[in-house]
Amino acid sequence: MIQAMKKRIYITYKYRLDPTKEQQNFFAQFAGSVRFVFNKSLEKIKQAVDAGLKIPTYTDLTKRLPYMKAQEETAWLSTIHSQILQQGIKDLSEGVDAFFSQKKQKKSSRGFPKFKKKGQRESFRYPQSIRCKDGKVYLPKIGWVRYRDSRPIEGVIKQAAVKLIGQHWYVCIACSIEIEVPEFHITEDTVLGIDVGIKNYISASDGMKIDNPSHLKHMLEKLRHLSKSLSRKKKGSKNWFKMRAKIQRLHIRITNCRRDFLHKQSTVLTDNQGVRAICIENLSIAGMVKNRKLARAISDASWGTFYEFLKYKCEWRGKKFLKVDRFYPSSKLCSSCGNKQDMPLHVRVFDCTACGMKLDRDINASINIRSAGTSELISCGEIRAGGLNEAGIGSF
Ligand SMILES: [Zn+2]
Repeated sequence: MIQAMKKRIYITYKYRLDPTKEQQNFFAQFAGSVRFVFNKSLEKIKQAVDAGLKIPTYTDLTKRLPYMKAQEETAWLSTIHSQILQQGIKDLSEGVDAFFSQKKQKKSSRGFPKFKKKGQRESFRYPQSIRCKDGKVYLPKIGWVRYRDSRPIEGVIKQAAVKLIGQHWYVCIACSIEIEVPEFHITEDTVLGIDVGIKNYISASDGMKIDNPSHLKHMLEKLRHLSKSLSRKKKGSKNWFKMRAKIQRLHIRITNCRRDFLHKQSTVLTDNQGVRAICIENLSIAGMVKNRKLARAISDASWGTFYEFLKYKCEWRGKKFLKVDRFYPSSKLCSSCGNKQDMPLHVRVFDCTACGMKLDRDINASINIRSAGTSELISCGEIRAGGLNEAGIGSF
């Protein structure tokens, strides 16, 4: 018998919208106003930072809204739904706070918020009052907008964001939902180690290896080709714009295709009945991207997204997700005897000089990650000595 526990989780649904011409105008106007208020507020924050003054808070910044609405040149702001303007300021404030707190903790930071540019990531968010019915979503001050209903919404709608991606508007609806999560007891033989790499995307301690799908590789090759061709065209010319639009479309296709691949792989890994804990190397992605040679390959691999998927899917299924310290030399240690030896990137097989073990480089690394994860799970009491199985639940 496996016990279960009720748990509240968050899930985001993304649908393509089919707005009328009038609704599209509203979208553009709302997104433009959020950008305007965001940039004005960021300007205030930057001035305060430069002058060494106290940084204006969310409350300080929202207090300026009525003033802006009263000014003749920005009176048009009063026609915009206040909540989405406030939400724009809130997002900015949180970004600034996160930057300073990460800096304080000396963590790699996602950077100070930047000014929004027209035509780049046009979006606005509603903190509440969203409803959905019959393939339509209700957006305050805009009304009912039709969307392409690809899967039914479950749970309670919390908030929504409207975004322009490529040529089309999308709505992302965040819901909270209560699910039953099984409570597993982790045993040493149910821990899986995963090594992520550029050559083999995923290598697992059970011997499984997964490469990037070939159609994705083809698309990336095509993207490289098109980008080269763009650089040969005269900037601002008709052909240049055509080529740029083509590249943008391909970008979106690549992103979708990659997300699809990462979703599938993370589902397979977390659905595995024999696995109750997944350990993965804690790569500092921000730190690694600074190394320019690796930068492209790593951002292509988008490990951050993969970790995110694994993390929440483990959580949903009652399994443990653990990041193992990145300074742990997983690729240089023999997984059999612990001997440490140099492993240049081109050497694909770990050939131990001490015990003679021969094993695929990445599989060896994933076994080391599993070992490190297992000791961490034991030391924090997640794995109990003797390894309780399901039958043992409740017997203590
Ligand atoms: Zn060895």
